[in-house]
Amino acid sequence: LTFVKGYVELLLEGNAGPLTDEQKKYLRIVVEKTEVVTELVSSIIFLQQADRVPAKTAVSLTKVARQAVRGCAATVEKAGLTLLEHLPDNLPPVAGDEGRLLQVFDNLLGNAIKFSPDGGQILVTVEDAGTMVRASVSDPGIGIPEDQQERIFERFYQVNGSAKRRFSGVGLGLAIVKRIVETHGGQVWVESEHGKGSTFYFTIPKYEYHG
Ligand code: ADP
Repeated sequence: LTFVKGYVELLLEGNAGPLTDEQKKYLRIVVEKTEVVTELVSSIIFLQQADRVPAKTAVSLTKVARQAVRGCAATVEKAGLTLLEHLPDNLPPVAGDEGRLLQVFDNLLGNAIKFSPDGGQILVTVEDAGTMVRASVSDPGIGIPEDQQERIFERFYQVNGSAKRRFSGVGLGLAIVKRIVETHGGQVWVESEHGKGSTFYFTIPKYEYHG
């Protein structure tokens, strides 16, 4: 796919001769579609890896959340959003795989940004919840109709998943989130009002309680 994209980009740059505007338009579509398939392949690989039970160490969910927040700061700003965080330092560690937990925050934050087309505030929290640590990502976006709030965690399920939909993505992000959280012994769910935003929650067992 990298080669396909590379050659199409060479064509677009005019390296094989001049192109009409229409030819350029079609080639740009080829580049976009190549990117979608690349994302699909890497998501399927992630999904497969997420099935394996991770080697667990003591991980600070606060630290992982901060890393994810730092990673998306530029995208947040570009989207005209602001990001608030409530990430206390003194929480006990969870039992987990740092890389996979980062992937959970990355996917939830990516969706929060993507589905909040009108700007506003995104909030990321981490808090003590007994034997678990609970994290949340809230957005002021388009929300999710109640009858689809379970289905969005299925592979490839997208609300209004028609070709005309204005949001990109392959529909695997939340399936990956669910598998990672569940192989850690936690749970993930959403609370949302259609048109008024969504809050995704997940829990991960504390290191001192993990089996
Ligand atoms: P993708 O974002 O690639 O479509 P996901 O598995 O991450 O796939 O999400 C599945 C679907 O759930 C999305 O297509 C969207 O319809 C809905 N969704 C996920 N997160 C949000 C959100 N924060 N706000 C509104 N809808 C959401």
